[in-house]
Amino acid sequence: MRLATIRGSQGLELALVVPGGLVELNRLDTQLPRNMRQLLAAGEEIWQRVAQWQHHQPTLALDQAQFAPVVPDPQKILCVGLNYADHARESGASVPEEPVIFSKFASALIGHEEPIVLPRESQEVDYEAELVVVIGRQGRHIPEDQALQYVAGYTCGHDVSARDWQLRKPGKQWLLGKTFDTFAPLGPWLVTRDEVPDPGHLDIRLRIGSETLQDSNTRELIFSVPRLIAYISQVMTLEPGDVLFTGTPAGVGFSRTPPRFLQPGDVVEVEIQGIGVLRNPVVAAS
Ligand code: ZN
Repeated sequence: MRLATIRGSQGLELALVVPGGLVELNRLDTQLPRNMRQLLAAGEEIWQRVAQWQHHQPTLALDQAQFAPVVPDPQKILCVGLNYADHARESGASVPEEPVIFSKFASALIGHEEPIVLPRESQEVDYEAELVVVIGRQGRHIPEDQALQYVAGYTCGHDVSARDWQLRKPGKQWLLGKTFDTFAPLGPWLVTRDEVPDPGHLDIRLRIGSETLQDSNTRELIFSVPRLIAYISQVMTLEPGDVLFTGTPAGVGFSRTPPRFLQPGDVVEVEIQGIGVLRNPVVAAS
């Protein structure tokens, strides 16, 4: 199944992607949670109720929908730095022996088609296409060989990054450089785990306009999705709705000659095989 969070007249709503459009779930079943995190936490019984609507006629055309972040209010947004060997090389960093984890705040999240706002405080805003894992079950000390059972599904993420903050501020401001407002596009929808048998074999691309700037496959991940879940859950309890950005492949803007940073008027697309295309225009701060 493909589930989206959309902006309706009554606030955020859940929608199911069906052939030809979306089914607005909360209009048809008023008992369903209106929030993705609550839906994921509700467990198996709810999933069967949602699945019934898969054969319903769409109630909203895709191009009429206003998409919100797939999970608008995750308890955690975890991110992995340097998780593709080619990106580690182009960054001049050695391949890490353990995952390097950082975070963003939910205030940075935006949905499909919502604008990335270039802040006045950065001159070097860069792009990063990423596969994002959405957690579906609570767990701590999750064994690697069971980790995928804790995954609700996958979506596309864009880890927008102010390189001048991340790399050149005193002490390197990774957190702040990565969490300016609008720096975490997430969507367009969650594709449930049953439709993605192997998250370690997905083509991943990033385009600006017609130009492809990143073109890789998740088989290049240094630390696999199960390894990351096992590693992180040594430290913290993962909860339904937590999101994990799994790192970006080679081709980012700051490693290019000359560098290619985001500009007002750019339209950036993150495409992941079997998941979808997350598209966001880039605008200047007003
Ligand atoms: Zn990243």
